[in-house]
Amino acid sequence: MKISGLKFGVIGGGIGGIAAALALQQRGAQVTVFEQAKALTEVGAGLQISANGMVVLRALNVVGDMPETAVASGGTMIRDYRSGRLVSALPPPSAGTTYYYHRADLLDALHQAALRAGVEFLLGARVEQVRKHPSDAEVALDDGTRHRFDCAIAADGGRSAIRTDLNGPETPAFTHQVAWRAIIPWSEHAETVRAALTMGPGRHVVTYPLRDQSLMNVVAIEERSDWTEEGWRLRGDPEDLRERFADFGGEVREILQQVQKPHIWALFLRPVAQTWQNGRIALLGDAAHPTLPFMAQGACLALEDAYVLARAFDDQSGIQQALEIYETHRRSRARKVVAAAGANARNFHLRGPMRLAAQAALMAIGPRLSRKYEWIYSYDATA
Ligand SMILES: Cc1cc2nc3c(=O)[nH]c(=O)nc-3n(C[C@H](O)[C@H](O)[C@H](O)COP(=O)(O)OP(=O)(O)OC[C@H]3O[C@@H](n4cnc5c(N)ncnc54)[C@H](O)[C@@H]3O)c2cc1C
Repeated sequence: MKISGLKFGVIGGGIGGIAAALALQQRGAQVTVFEQAKALTEVGAGLQISANGMVVLRALNVVGDMPETAVASGGTMIRDYRSGRLVSALPPPSAGTTYYYHRADLLDALHQAALRAGVEFLLGARVEQVRKHPSDAEVALDDGTRHRFDCAIAADGGRSAIRTDLNGPETPAFTHQVAWRAIIPWSEHAETVRAALTMGPGRHVVTYPLRDQSLMNVVAIEERSDWTEEGWRLRGDPEDLRERFADFGGEVREILQQVQKPHIWALFLRPVAQTWQNGRIALLGDAAHPTLPFMAQGACLALEDAYVLARAFDDQSGIQQALEIYETHRRSRARKVVAAAGANARNFHLRGPMRLAAQAALMAIGPRLSRKYEWIYSYDATA
């Protein structure tokens, strides 16, 4: 089927929604993005984009071979929490370089590329409902306006209301994981830049530099039984953060000392959606497959979704067939990656003798560990 001339409405102007809009528009569709926020903004935080995400960004001409604003990763240092002792140094995946992005920089690069391609953005546009009709999909906004499209893509995030319309009500479950996030100024310049993953019982901290290494991204995750609110932008108390990670030593301790304005975010999850599309409306990104961040793959999966969705319209006889192809290709991949991230939630937070045994194993096989995940990084959605 010819995608050119088809009209798409994309709900959500996050990384997934904008990437999908760009991929569809570049293939000849006419795309409108509805974003409830008045401006396209991302929280101050970092994102690791591994080779499987980078291949999509390059195919969409969002970045060239060497992204200008991101930092190339030279691998990951796994450290023990008490002293910061090095347990293992993981080399970069052989599938290709991972880049450390400031979220705002990646979102801006996608937005600029989408504007250049001709995507229309409606900001401050909160979608109340998306309805399937026999020959189109209707997007209803909370200001009472209605827009008709050949196809609607719901990239409205982990708490997607459109997913509920397609799958019925599901209550997001608290995973008992709480993420603290902050960016601090940084002055050390490394020739080879590596992330540090510091593991302790029930907690871990990930740090890596951003931009020209003038910033350090800090993510500290702890298991916790209590939580009442769900949200991105809750402010945390830096003293509380330091207290909760008080037994962490070495460099990570110094980094946590410098955190001034952390955000704190409880991680709620729904399983990978059972139904991704209904022939006119399709889910994409976190709306379809929210994941724990322990494989750093949520945004990468959303980028893959975007490319596979747009490509599914090549050679298909209709919208329904294209969406079915998209769903079939993406659901199994998302399930496997989300399960790998879930398994790491346990591996990262081991306690007592289990932790020591895991460290011994890591010392022995650490450098080969990256190979275990090659199937994630070597996936090429554009191939
Ligand atoms: C601590 C942490 C670290 C992470 N690190 C990484 C990493 O290193 N690498 C990686 O690949 N992934 C990472 N992720 C995952 C990644 O952040 C997400 O998977 C990704 O941002 C999802 O993008 P999205 O576009 O699907 O959803 P979102 O970014 O949630 O975007 C959804 C958009 O939809 C809009 N919206 C919602 N409802 C409506 C409505 N009704 N009308 C209009 N607009 C609406 C929202 O305002 C928002 O802009 C991490 C996640 C966490 C929690």
